[in-house]
Amino acid sequence: MFGELHEECGVFAVYNHPQASHLTYYGLHSLQHRGQEGTGIISGDEGELNLHKGEGLVSEIYNDHVLQHLAGRNAIGHVRYATAGGAGYNNVQPLLFQRFTGSDLGIAHNGNIVNAHELKCHLEQQGSIFQATSDTEILAHLLFRGQGTMIQRLCESLQLLEGAFAFVILHGDTLYVARDRHGLRPLSIGMLNGAYIFASETCALDIVGATFIRDVLPGEVITVNHEGLNSVAYAQQTTHAMCSMEYIYFSRPDSDIEGINVHRARRNTGHILAAESPVEADIVIGVPDSSISAAIGYSEVSGIPYEIGLVKNRYIGRTFIQPTQELREQGVKMKLSAVRSIVAGKRVIMIDDSIVRGTTSKRIVRMLKEAGATEVHVRIAAPAIKYPCFYGVDMSTFDELISSRLDETQLATYIEADSLAFISLAGLLRGIGRSGNLGKNCGQCTACFNGDFPTNLYESYDAANREKK
Ligand code: SF4
Repeated sequence: MFGELHEECGVFAVYNHPQASHLTYYGLHSLQHRGQEGTGIISGDEGELNLHKGEGLVSEIYNDHVLQHLAGRNAIGHVRYATAGGAGYNNVQPLLFQRFTGSDLGIAHNGNIVNAHELKCHLEQQGSIFQATSDTEILAHLLFRGQGTMIQRLCESLQLLEGAFAFVILHGDTLYVARDRHGLRPLSIGMLNGAYIFASETCALDIVGATFIRDVLPGEVITVNHEGLNSVAYAQQTTHAMCSMEYIYFSRPDSDIEGINVHRARRNTGHILAAESPVEADIVIGVPDSSISAAIGYSEVSGIPYEIGLVKNRYIGRTFIQPTQELREQGVKMKLSAVRSIVAGKRVIMIDDSIVRGTTSKRIVRMLKEAGATEVHVRIAAPAIKYPCFYGVDMSTFDELISSRLDETQLATYIEADSLAFISLAGLLRGIGRSGNLGKNCGQCTACFNGDFPTNLYESYDAANREKK
């Protein structure tokens, strides 16, 4: 699914380190794969907070001078891919609210709030004026309208939110972090020389040299201040429904999500896929980067040699001039190339992590055949995606999902593959290490495969259906 699917964001936070903004910069850099459209950092010690943000990559938005200006021992940071609310500078996070009950307030979040529309209408009727269109701001308005201490306001406000989220919030000299009650988005805690570090993925803890402590629990709010770390459960009813796509596609292979290494999980799915859907062939290849681990796994069990049959060009920036349709037709391919001398004359098993719209798979199969592959058998390390996602992944209508319209045989014909097979849902869960139990308590969200949504969906599901042709 090379380049077909994006997630909304990644978050990073530091409490009590003399170089908090520098650490946040490095952390965000290692989370760049989770969002490339915008990034921001808020830093400070108490009272007044400093903000720097912009549209672009981490390497484009910050420099040494900017990071020096972002003073203070605490910081929160964000990388954004826009789904809910759209792109634009105003929606780049963190958002800063000045003089909120005496101190500045900074908020960033990863995920998507499914009852955002209902809450926003309610807040606007009460007089709230929104600066941006992203749903992150809703929490700030709920906090503003709440009663009692900050932690009381936060717990009450979080109870009203339904959906997927990992929040990092800086208020004066206190850092708050919270995870949704279903644990849909990851958030881990680390320590570095007495400083607390929080990150969407453990690869960002590793990059700054922090030691992993534990994951934030579903429905948990953590407060970190001069008294240390304190934990409160804001939701009584919690479930464990980590997004399966974190293992399949989004997270880096060197990250451990809820104690499970992403590379190992992908390699296991390759083992299971080989056992479930064998086919005679000469080589196994993976679509870079996220399918490489599963391709290695498939090769290990099938005994068919693993080869590098596709190469990704890593140096295409956002401002690169893309070829015109005419040049594309002449064979100018910028992002992915087939390795002709490896695939020519071979029966190829191509492992991909998923199929969303199908257009990319078709292009890659064609590319392999043009490079001389005699057969291309496609094996997918995820079940067919038949339902939209409302939790921050940019596939929110049935129309976008080819597997909601075509069965496996029809889809094989559409992508021009000699055969096509998806891993079973039980196989995927076993590969991740969830012991293969299906159903609500399997530890994973599997909604895009089987429609088993862990939350209420409010008007989102109706909107997705309305767009179904
Ligand atoms: S619906 Fe799919 S993509 Fe969305 S959170 Fe669930 S598993 Fe992840």
